[in-house]
Amino acid sequence: MAKAKWGVTTCNLVGLDSETMATTFAEMDKVFATYPQLVGQLAAIQSVDSEVIGENAFMATDGETLYINSDFYATENIETLTLERKTYVQRGYFPIGTENIASTAVHELGHLLEIALIRAKIPIHEQEEFWNNCTYAEKLVDSAMNEVSLSNTEILRGFRNYETDLNNVADSFLVKIFNGLGTKTKSDIIRHSISKYANVSPSETLAEAFSDVWFNGNNANSLSRAIMQKYLSASR
Ligand SMILES: [Zn+2]
Repeated sequence: MAKAKWGVTTCNLVGLDSETMATTFAEMDKVFATYPQLVGQLAAIQSVDSEVIGENAFMATDGETLYINSDFYATENIETLTLERKTYVQRGYFPIGTENIASTAVHELGHLLEIALIRAKIPIHEQEEFWNNCTYAEKLVDSAMNEVSLSNTEILRGFRNYETDLNNVADSFLVKIFNGLGTKTKSDIIRHSISKYANVSPSETLAEAFSDVWFNGNNANSLSRAIMQKYLSASR
């Protein structure tokens, strides 16, 4: 069973759709095989409901347990979940090309890659602080942002995700506005070019970048690719 191979010792999937979980675990297995530093990071997989995890969360992780929301993953709700995931991608909340039902778990594994790096590189008494403050993720994201140069298409996606009421503004004019903006707004727009969710915190930027690169490879957003390059050099 894949989960034992990942180092997972406790697995409670009560109330979750078995076919969806099989698809999800198959994708997770590929990620674990590609990123062996993930093995041993996750101790448990736990089905919980919205009251525990929050009514908008499909999944979450605290770096020890992967929580899966049974209010979304119950068999009778999978159709809604599939549709919601698609809608979120269409509206720019998640990266382009991550409609896949397994992509939520891939995003969570992005968080586990962050904790794997913290556990490997940071003294144990500082690890919790690094995790809670997204310290390592922030360092990676910032250094990637300093080097990356977005294409005009990416700038436009970022701008329109950042400010949704720009449909009537011409592309060329938006690019001109972007170039004249201050650093803070520019950074927000650059992170929005991955997804709206990528702007929530540096950890979310890293997890979204990971999911983007996992599903899109060389066609992923430039910032996503730069962040993952930084991640790979940092974890050597
Ligand atoms: Zn997340």
